[in-house]
Parts: sequence; structure tokens; C-alpha cells
Amino acid sequence: MSTFLSLSDNKMAKQPNDEDLFNNLRRRRLLQFCAVTMVACILALLVARGSSVYIFASGLLSFSIALWFAYKCYLSTASYILLGAKSFTLFLLSIAGAGLFDLAILGYPGLIVFAALLGGVGLFLTVLTVVTTQCVIVASLTITGVLIPNTPSISWEHLLFVVLILSLIGFSVFVLVQDIKRLSYILKQENIKVRESREEITKLAHTDMLTQLPNRGFGEELFQRLSVSCNDKNPLAVIFIDVDNFKPINDALGHAAGDELLKQLTTRLKNKLTDGQYVVRYGGDEFIILTAFSNKDKLATFAENLLHDCSTPFDIWDNEVMASASIGIACAPEHDTSFEQLCRKADIAMYKAKKDGRDTFCFYHPNFNLAIEEKFNLLQRMRPALKRGEFEVYFQPVVDLQSGRAMSVEALIRWPQPDGTMIGPDKFIPAAESSGLIKEIGTWVLLEACTFCANQRQNINVELCVSVNVSVVQFKSGDFCQIVSDALTQTGLPPKALELELTESLLIEDKALIQGKLNLLHQMGVSIAIDDFGTGYSNLGYLRNFHASKLKIDRSFVFTMTTSKNDASLVEAMIGLSNSLGLKTVAEGIEDQETLSKLIDMGCQFGQGYYFSKPIDMKSMQQLLTRDAFEDNVQM
Ligand code: C2E
Ligand code: CA
Ligand code: CA
Repeated sequence: MSTFLSLSDNKMAKQPNDEDLFNNLRRRRLLQFCAVTMVACILALLVARGSSVYIFASGLLSFSIALWFAYKCYLSTASYILLGAKSFTLFLLSIAGAGLFDLAILGYPGLIVFAALLGGVGLFLTVLTVVTTQCVIVASLTITGVLIPNTPSISWEHLLFVVLILSLIGFSVFVLVQDIKRLSYILKQENIKVRESREEITKLAHTDMLTQLPNRGFGEELFQRLSVSCNDKNPLAVIFIDVDNFKPINDALGHAAGDELLKQLTTRLKNKLTDGQYVVRYGGDEFIILTAFSNKDKLATFAENLLHDCSTPFDIWDNEVMASASIGIACAPEHDTSFEQLCRKADIAMYKAKKDGRDTFCFYHPNFNLAIEEKFNLLQRMRPALKRGEFEVYFQPVVDLQSGRAMSVEALIRWPQPDGTMIGPDKFIPAAESSGLIKEIGTWVLLEACTFCANQRQNINVELCVSVNVSVVQFKSGDFCQIVSDALTQTGLPPKALELELTESLLIEDKALIQGKLNLLHQMGVSIAIDDFGTGYSNLGYLRNFHASKLKIDRSFVFTMTTSKNDASLVEAMIGLSNSLGLKTVAEGIEDQETLSKLIDMGCQFGQGYYFSKPIDMKSMQQLLTRDAFEDNVQM
């Protein structure tokens, strides 16, 4: 309010803003008050007699000056002149008339109210002081006999004065009070808006945008509310729901379809809830339901119903999409009382449900904590480890059994631990695959391997090739071919020097998608090796589809070929098959001379194993390549 009514002489800025609008209003009001006062003055002049004529005439002049200042936007000056001129006109009129009993004194209260409404403390105090002083002067002059009040008999002119004074005060006060009312209305509206936007912000901070469900942060708050009445007799459950095959749906149908599925699932879950139960979007395709329960059997039935809802086909833009979910349940206070721990334990139980074949639910139990928790912790640690560059790529040579030269090196990832131990890929790659992190890890290994090989080709062996293991999940991810192409461009490694090691399990599903990618890689000139041959799918019909140039006989057959005749014949058959398909053959896991000799006899061209070298770090591999010879090893 003080912004509106406060007095300062700042001229209005060019851009209209709130302050300008208020200044405009003040200016308009001042112009109106000056004009109305001038009209009243002119009317008074028409009936005035004697000295009053001069008083009204000088008042009129002063009011016109105030009008001019108001017109020129010197609002503060205009206000002081207007009020000053008014008080002096009234003062002079009372001196010229009946002193303290003159009608002009009627105008003083109006003047004070006017100053209080129009201005700040300064103007109000000034006017109050001036008016009081004037009254004191008039009274003193009268009491001391200097002034002899001239009390006229009442005439129609006096009535006109009264009407004019009252109208003037009435008009001014009315207009100002209206302004104040309007202003307080505007302020009230602003307040409502602020409150609404504050509520909106709180809602946004609490809500997941896609599903409009409470988000994880708000979920914790809801849990706190529920847990107030939670005890052994009134337990609470955190039901962790994870969609089993969300990623393939997302990949195959696109993100918009994935979003649609989540929205439809949200509606289904919400329909299952009664008062006091909440569903929260925990993360991507993860939801949690918070509910009190009376006994675990009922909770199990509830979970079964939820599973049923998740596995009922979804209609996504006229496509029937099948999905399912795995559910883990942790209970308070039995398993824990903190929201974070309960979610973690429900998540562990959910992993167990996934392990048990998906589309099922599982209550948390400390017994299965260990193995799953280990994997869980591994996963938790893996992402930051990748960011911090804690992983390392080791290399193992693949040796030409004729020449004894290392023709290529296989990149094998390692995760060194702070205590000096090493976590092997067999332990963490499956976890990375199930979490999707394999894509990032795989991309990183690919880049490291290509960089290493490009350097070695430049400095030591122009012929050197590098093999990189590619997991099925990684291969199937949308932009795999692009990632390979980028790695080659970035490192300058020719495509023919890169070999991707794939397993036959790749061909089990999504044949068209995978075939397309295999064709593209083949066109790019990248080689493909079939890894772990003999352990998996081994559908010979599909082998051709790989465009493979190499077949790697799994080490489990090689280990036992000197002790088991069966395995020896299997290896021989595999070598024969590989030769007849025009593929090069690599035997993995050669640990001794005897195995090596047998393999050479069987016509195997390449070998890999501890007999030549264990996987070693980059620096050691560089030194090994400089020596570059395993002739002694292969000579018999
Ligand atoms: P793989 O592709 O069959 O790799 C060969 C494995 O056999 C390596 O184990 C290697 O250390 C081991 N090996 C080689 N020669 C011998 C030998 O003479 N005796 C014995 N006992 N073992 C030998 P590693 O490095 O533990 O890798 C295990 C598996 O992890 C690999 O099997 C591969 O499937 C996977 N892997 C490794 N690095 C990566 C990677 O960067 N990405 C992906 N997706 N998978 C990887
Ligand atoms: Ca391999
Ligand atoms: Ca292998």
C-alpha cells in the first residue's frame, strides 16, 4: 500500500510495471483532487465577498500550481503544494472569519484524513502539525485579543461553503478508500495466486510427472504417516513391484509405448487400493505399495492379485502387449522400521522373485539375504566404480599355433578392489547384464580395447587384432552398431582389426533384429567370432547367419581332452566342423604342452590359454608383444 501512496518524485519509467501503474493512479488522483478543489474554489469565488475573494483567488493559483506539478509527474511536490495550499486557505479563511468557530475549520479533519490516506508518515505528520499550529495560532490570537472573530449571521453562501467542503472531503476520501479497497482486493488475489503456486510447487515436488503418482521422496513421507500407528499388532508392508520385461518392450515398441504401459499399470494398481494404501512410483519400472495388513496370508493374496493385474495383457495402441511383474515384500517392524531399509529389503526379495522365475512374489527373509545382497551391493558399487574409472582391461594373447606369433589379443575386463583382490567378470558381468549397466561397461571396454590395439599396430605389430566380448544384452541394445562404428572412428582402428566375440545364445530370440545387426557389422568389415562354442545352443543351421570368421572351442572341452577320450573326439569334431565351414578355429584354455600338441595334431590353427600367457594388464601385454613370440611354446 505504501508503494501506491508513498510520496516520491521519481518520474515514471518507460516500461509499464506494477509500480508505474500505481504511480499512474496516484497521478490521476492528484489531478482529480486538484481539479475538484479548483472547481470548488471557483464556486466559492462566485459567492465570496471581501478578503475571502483574495484568499480563494490565491488558493486557486496554488491549486493550479499543484495541478501543474501533478501533470508533470512530480507527485510528491504536487501533494505537498495541494495540501499546504488547502490548509493555508482554510487558515486564512478562519482568521478572516469567525476564528476557531469558522466553517473553514470543518475542512481540517478532512485534510488530516486525506494526508493519512494519500501519503506516508512524513506528509501526515506535517499536515497534522501545520493544522494544529494554525488552530493554536487562531485560538491564541483570539484569546489575546489580537484577532476579533467576525461571526456572521448564517446565509445561503455559508451553506454553499459547508456543502463544498463536505463534498470535497467526501469525494477525496471516498476515491482514496475505493483505491485502497481495490488494492487490498488485488493483494488478496495475489495472495491466493502465491498460495496456489506454492501448493502447485509442492505437488510437483511430490509427484511423478508421468504417472501422477507420489514419487519416491513423497513415498517416504507417506510411509512416515502410516508408520505412526505401526507396531507388532499393526504391521506395515512395503510391496516392491518391478515389471519383468519392461526393457524389451521399451526397446521394441519405443519409449512412448513404454510410458503408456506404465500409465496403464498405474491405473490398475490404483484400482486395487483402498483407503490408507498408497502406490508410489519408485523408479523407472518400479512401484511400491505401502499398506497396513492384518496377516501375511491376506498380504500374499493381495500380492497374487497384483501379479494377476500386471500379467493381464495391455492394449497399447491396438497392440496386445504381454508383461509380468516380480514382487518383493518387506514388513515393518519385523524386517526393519526405516523406509530406506524396508525398500532395500523388499528390493532384495524382488530379486529373489525374479530368480525364482519371475511373475511371482517373495517375502523378504534374512536367509537369502547373503547371496542376493552381495549381488545387490555389487550392483550398487558398480556404477560409481565405472564413473571413477576403477575397472581395468586385461589382455590375453591368441597365438597362431603354426608360427607361434600372437595374432590378436582378447580384451578381458577386471575390477581391482582396494584390498588388492580382483573381482572377475564372471562375478559382475551377469549383475551388469541384469541391471542394464553392461551397455556402459561394454562401450568402455570396446573403446579401451580399440585404443590399445590401434597403439600397438602403430608401434609394434601392424597386423595385431583385438577381440572384445559382447554380451547379448549389450548387442541387442538399440545403438550397438553405432557404438562400434564410433569406437573405430575415434581410435582410428581399421574395422578388420576388431573382432567381436558373441555366443550362440544370441540367436535364440529376436532373430530378425539380431540378423540385421550382424549383417550391418559384417558390412562394416568387423569380424565376428563365436565364443564358448559347444556349450550352448549349437544349432548348426544358424551358424552361417553369424557371418563368423572364427570359432572358439570352449575351454571346458580343452581342459579335459587329454584325460577324456570323448572330449578329445568332440574337440576334433569341432575343429573339423569349423574347417569345413571355412572358419578359423581357436582352442581356449590351453594350459599344458600335451594339450597343445594334440590340438596342433588335430589341425587347430589358434590357441589361447595360461600355457602362453594369463590375461595381463596393458603394460605387461605391450612388453609381451614387443617380445612377440611363443615359438618356443609351439615348437615340439
Ligand atoms: P571368455 O570369453 O570365455 O574368456 C576367456 C576366459 O577364460 C577368461 O576368463 C580367461 O581368463 C580364461 N582363461 C583363458 N585361458 C585360460 C586357461 O588356460 N585356463 C583357465 N582356467 N582359464 C583360462 P575371465 O577373464 O574370467 O572371463 C570370463 C568371462 O567373462 C569371459 O569368458 C567372458 O565371457 C566374460 N567377459 C570378460 N570380459 C568381458 C567384457 O569385457 N565384456 C563381456 N560382455 N564379457 C566379458
Ligand atoms: Ca571370449
Ligand atoms: Ca570363451
